[in-house]
Amino acid sequence: MGVVVYGSEIAKKLKLEMTEYIQNLKESGKRLPKLVVVLVGENPASISYVKGKEKACTEIGMENEMVKLPETTTQEELLEVVKSLNEDRSVDGILVQLPLPKQIDEHKILHAIDPSKDVDGFHPYNLGKMMLQEETFISCTPKGIIRILEEIGMSDLSGKHAVVIGRSNIVGKPLVQLLINHNATVSVCHSRTQNIEQVASQADILIVSVGKARLINRNWVKDGAVVIDVGINRDEHNKLCGDVDFDDVIDKVSYITPVPKGVGPMTITMLLENTIHSYNLKENK
Ligand code: NAP
Repeated sequence: MGVVVYGSEIAKKLKLEMTEYIQNLKESGKRLPKLVVVLVGENPASISYVKGKEKACTEIGMENEMVKLPETTTQEELLEVVKSLNEDRSVDGILVQLPLPKQIDEHKILHAIDPSKDVDGFHPYNLGKMMLQEETFISCTPKGIIRILEEIGMSDLSGKHAVVIGRSNIVGKPLVQLLINHNATVSVCHSRTQNIEQVASQADILIVSVGKARLINRNWVKDGAVVIDVGINRDEHNKLCGDVDFDDVIDKVSYITPVPKGVGPMTITMLLENTIHSYNLKENK
């Protein structure tokens, strides 16, 4: 029977450390780290993600602000907001919640964020630095996944075959790079991959970020594999579930992350960590 790795528990531990850190800053009368989240429009999923981020900041005592803009906001107006946040010395982290309304070019906005405040790690400058293994902001979900692997004693992935299913800019692609940086041998699968089940079943570490409820059953999983499930889906009964059929694979895996309480809580925690990192870089310059 596989061990269930609760990202929520790892996140709790990390958040306690961050709470203590911020409390110490407060007691010594220092400025506190601050995250600003920009929300454009009324997308229900985005509203819920932004609320989760606000709650996490408040929980650890981090300064935070939500800039709420109407659905009709123009690209120029949003660029102005980003510019003023870039210039605001009290702001350490800027996160523009995606997706953006169709009149706005997402790339233009992400490129406009000051890379030193890009706590989401989506700016091409930071992505390039990650590729070169230089100190930088690493995208929160891939960073959280690496932390989960470290937590189960898999810091050095030499000799391990990792298979990533999904090649999104926010999860799959940066994750592949991080896994290589940790010495894994990596295969990437996506919707055009042939014999995908066969590739997946060779993985020592199988990481799935597709967005299809319970796509992965036991036939895709090698005996003793570590399975990390990134997907967040609703099944036919409106129940939250991952991309992996948890009940079907649990007796085959060595470790598995559940949905919910797996990768999700780690993503938000890495955002807090990146904001504190940005703060430290500024304050200790
Ligand atoms: P995405 O942009 O939605 O892209 C999905 C990826 O899956 C694409 O690369 C696509 O291939 C591939 N794909 C689609 N159908 C496939 C199939 N049948 N077999 C193999 N590959 C297939 O991906 P994402 O943004 O990474 O999101 C994926 C899931 O993770 C969603 O459920 C999302 O909600 C969740 N998510 C969770 C977190 C978290 O913190 N837990 C963070 C981010 C995302 P092509 O490239 O060929 O189209």
